[in-house]
Amino acid sequence: MKYFVVSVMLLLAAAAGAEVKVVTSLPDLADLTRRVGGDRVIVDNIVRSDQNPHALEVKPSYMMKLRSADLFFIVGMDLELWAQQIVDGSRNDALRVVDLSRRIHKLEIPARVDASQGDVHRLGNPHYWLDPRNVRIMVEDIVSALAGISPSDEKYFRANADTYLKQLEQKIAQWEVTMRPFAGRSIITFHKSWSYFAAWLGLTVADQVEPKPGIAPSPGHTVELIGQVRKAGIKVIIVEPFYDASAAEQIARTTGATVLRLPTSSGDAGEAPDYIGLMEHNIAALAGALK
Ligand SMILES: [Zn+2]
Repeated sequence: MKYFVVSVMLLLAAAAGAEVKVVTSLPDLADLTRRVGGDRVIVDNIVRSDQNPHALEVKPSYMMKLRSADLFFIVGMDLELWAQQIVDGSRNDALRVVDLSRRIHKLEIPARVDASQGDVHRLGNPHYWLDPRNVRIMVEDIVSALAGISPSDEKYFRANADTYLKQLEQKIAQWEVTMRPFAGRSIITFHKSWSYFAAWLGLTVADQVEPKPGIAPSPGHTVELIGQVRKAGIKVIIVEPFYDASAAEQIARTTGATVLRLPTSSGDAGEAPDYIGLMEHNIAALAGALK
């Protein structure tokens, strides 16, 4: 009897259409995909929120995740320098890689590709998901990609996307109100990950603790920053949890600024379970520190 019930359930599941199997690079993309895909998708992600996506060590388990996937959503712009390696290693000829940066208005694109942007931002700044207005575009592209695999579910995906975007729009309006008093203020960040976030809120990122993206702090640059923080009265230095904060703490000790450890991704390992929670957490912490 038990086997009969299981077989019938499997048949019913097959009749309802197969689920779309998606792997994403970042947990934030996984969250957005779950919002759009609902119960018609199975989603897994590669990078955890406590890992630096620029510096991921490739493991065979990542290739296994991609082996049976239909779609692989990436941030693009070379954030996932390791993506091609795991796509090749997955030996999944049917896999479609979807670069969510395609329709994003990109910042800091170098006039020519050379080392002037450091090792990791050679195609411009890839941290665009920290401007929630870009999430509208990302969600639209996720709808299209999922519908490309499962056209009969397109209306369902679209309805879910509309519900989520409505919720996000309300949050965006609230966050803008919270941050309005701080427009025009300057901050320092460890890595150049906050350019889109700052542009959205009218903040100025005066400098980075890294001399160039992906290049470790140097004593000379740290001394320069101490002068800059004092002169401009900068109160906050943002450092992601996965970076070594010692140089930032040295600047803070000398100047009285605060080191804020803010995550750039949501997920099980971090402060926030999902994208909206991530933004909520970061806005509240930053507004508190800028007061
Ligand atoms: Zn970066």
